[in-house]
Amino acid sequence: MKIGIIGGGMMGLALAHRLSLQGSMVTVFESNQQLGGLTTYHDYGPFVWDRFYHVILPSDTHLINFIKEIGLEDQLRWGPTLTGCYIDQQLYSISNTMEFLRFPPLTLIGKLRLAFTLLYGSRIENWQRLEKITVEDWLLKISGRNTYEKLWQPLLLAKLGENYKRVSAVFIWSYIKRLFSARDSSLHKEQLGYVAGGYKTVFDQVKKLVCAAGSDIRTGVTVEHIAPHPSGGIWVEHGGAKEHFDKVIFTGPVNVLQQIVAKDLVNIAGGSFSVEYMGVICMVLITRKPLVPYYIVNLADQRIPFTGVIGMSNLVSLQETAGLHITYFPKYLISDDPLLQETDDELRKRFFQGLHLMFPDIKADDIVVAHINRAMKMQPLQVLNYSKLVPTVVTEHDDFFVLNTAQFVNNTLNNNTVVQHVDEFVKNAPFLK
Ligand SMILES: Cc1cc2nc3c(=O)[nH]c(=O)nc-3n(C[C@H](O)[C@H](O)[C@H](O)COP(=O)(O)OP(=O)(O)OC[C@H]3O[C@@H](n4cnc5c(N)ncnc54)[C@H](O)[C@@H]3O)c2cc1C
Repeated sequence: MKIGIIGGGMMGLALAHRLSLQGSMVTVFESNQQLGGLTTYHDYGPFVWDRFYHVILPSDTHLINFIKEIGLEDQLRWGPTLTGCYIDQQLYSISNTMEFLRFPPLTLIGKLRLAFTLLYGSRIENWQRLEKITVEDWLLKISGRNTYEKLWQPLLLAKLGENYKRVSAVFIWSYIKRLFSARDSSLHKEQLGYVAGGYKTVFDQVKKLVCAAGSDIRTGVTVEHIAPHPSGGIWVEHGGAKEHFDKVIFTGPVNVLQQIVAKDLVNIAGGSFSVEYMGVICMVLITRKPLVPYYIVNLADQRIPFTGVIGMSNLVSLQETAGLHITYFPKYLISDDPLLQETDDELRKRFFQGLHLMFPDIKADDIVVAHINRAMKMQPLQVLNYSKLVPTVVTEHDDFFVLNTAQFVNNTLNNNTVVQHVDEFVKNAPFLK
């Protein structure tokens, strides 16, 4: 069977691997010159690493199984990491129970309420009821004002900017559920993982396996039109060429689907796609010295333009990064924010002002290079009743399928859920039975 897959991100590549293993002849179309989508890599000069920061949690069982299946089990690396918090121009470690108990900005009652929120949140199963309450109201109710203002609000600002006020409690619930599982309860330390060589290793390996099975992966090819073929199957059009497939699976965003799909192939309920998207600007700093001892520092400081510091080199071995330190400085914002349109130089200038406020001792000589990466549309903003706003994409043709992250209504955006969706699709696809 000939299957066309549109999108060479994690979803499209996991699908390509699974389907070519089943004996199908797969062709992946990816519009960018390199594979990976949001999980792609970047050549920083002295080394190649992920464009945005990615980690694997011990509970990412679908993703870990996938990595094992493609023969990269021995490339998985795990390590303990620390979490920090920057409040009132001070850095605090909040990496274990003792540090939480000592954490000066929180009162004793605040600490107890925080522990209760984490435990209670991680046990909630009925997430639908959390869609009706804002994350701010829910956290104030469960954690109290002290914990909210000192801990949760900075974290919400770090992850969502000012948009957090419109977001439902499902956001923090899925965050707690995912992160709670990262803590090794016997050690009370956070264990995080990565693949040696970063996600490039994963994409290179998938490409090798898929091509060895006789399938094809094409980069730099944008699919412009998808239409039903009069005698069955689907036409895929790109650069003036038309190719025929028995089945086609689209893995890109819904707004792209709407632009390229023939009207009679899908029914997008609700008509217009009214969901708002979050984007991200991320400065990646390569330095000779470490900046922080933490994997992640959450911060909400009006003077500083970024909302987190991710000390990747506190997890990833320095051998991976030519002995240099890699630190990510993200700022999440709504996708039509004018900041996303600023030039790299303008953004670098802004981020450097914040960098010098937070790290006054940093010298020009310490910095090897500073890259600005950005994603215009990363993830929908999970506003109140989000699951009811998401357009249901119903395919109207037996040979056309849509599988994408807009369908994640009760989860954070992560590659474990991506692989889980692929696993379920392959298990249930009628044409594979
Ligand atoms: C800042 C940041 C941090 C993250 N951290 C983590 C983390 O720590 N752990 C984790 O598991 N996940 C993390 N993620 C999420 C992870 O990157 C996503 O889960 C994943 O990229 C989603 O993959 P996808 O294939 O569904 O979508 P995408 O990556 O968006 O891929 C879709 C692909 O389709 C292509 N495409 C679209 N339209 C067309 C067309 N017409 N023709 C051809 N190609 C087309 C696009 O170019 C793109 O490559 C993070 C993401 C970001 C942005």
